[in-house]
Amino acid sequence: VLPVRIANVEGRAHVLVGDRLVDIERGSGGRLPSDPMEVLARMADVEADHALLQAPGVPLSEAHLGPPIPRPSKILAAGGNYQDHIEESPPLAPSGEPNVFAKLPSALVGPTDPIVLPAGRGQIDWEVELVVVIARRARDVPVADAWGYVAGVTGGQDISDRAEQVRGSQQWTMAKSFDTFAPTGPYLVTVDELADRDAIGLQCFLDEEEVQDGTTANLLFPVPVLISWASHVATLEVGDLFFTGTPGGVGAFRDPPRWLEDGQVLRSVLPGVGEMANPVRRATGTGGPR
Ligand code: ZN
Repeated sequence: VLPVRIANVEGRAHVLVGDRLVDIERGSGGRLPSDPMEVLARMADVEADHALLQAPGVPLSEAHLGPPIPRPSKILAAGGNYQDHIEESPPLAPSGEPNVFAKLPSALVGPTDPIVLPAGRGQIDWEVELVVVIARRARDVPVADAWGYVAGVTGGQDISDRAEQVRGSQQWTMAKSFDTFAPTGPYLVTVDELADRDAIGLQCFLDEEEVQDGTTANLLFPVPVLISWASHVATLEVGDLFFTGTPGGVGAFRDPPRWLEDGQVLRSVLPGVGEMANPVRRATGTGGPR
């Protein structure tokens, strides 16, 4: 079985073979689709297609990667899902059930794309997270079955405008859905590729400085609980994403607080999953109506 890491190159699904990326549609002689969203339903066929191993490809170092799952029907995200993040964040409180909000799919960008700080907004923060990709339609899924609904995982940053997040009666979804506020990647990694699917490390670096260092072993509500809980609210579709929450170390609750700044590089490292390096850019202009 071919180990599967799937990347999005110019909108076409590619599989990583050694250090080259093979176009799945061309490499399979047209047996498999090119659209990364359609490939999700054909993962078993990708794993079994040994023609892909021999096919020519583009060197990984020369490819510009987009978000591995470019058009999910929805993105869900867990808030307050690590004890150390709850303790650093006065607005968060422990809860008996997952706290779940949405991010808009229009916020997705790839693993090396810029994070654009909106004009006139100064409190933009980082949150490194494990992102889970749904494999098939899921409704009322028992916890014990939930990993069976996962196509794989990737890395993510749940970029957040902290001022907007707590404005008025709070609006988490829009605060975390500005364009470019959902970098993901670099690959979709199938679950059987992981050394331990329940203990994935995640680190965040601001330029060279480590600002977050956690493991999904510390999730208060682990992946199967999140999927089960959400599937009792909304039908999950193939390709839906679930940001699973961030460990401690965000900028907002430091003394003094720290925010993303023009010219920095935000690096996200999930050993065994992959690494992102997103440059931070300040948008020009005056911003929208306030
Ligand atoms: Zn988050």
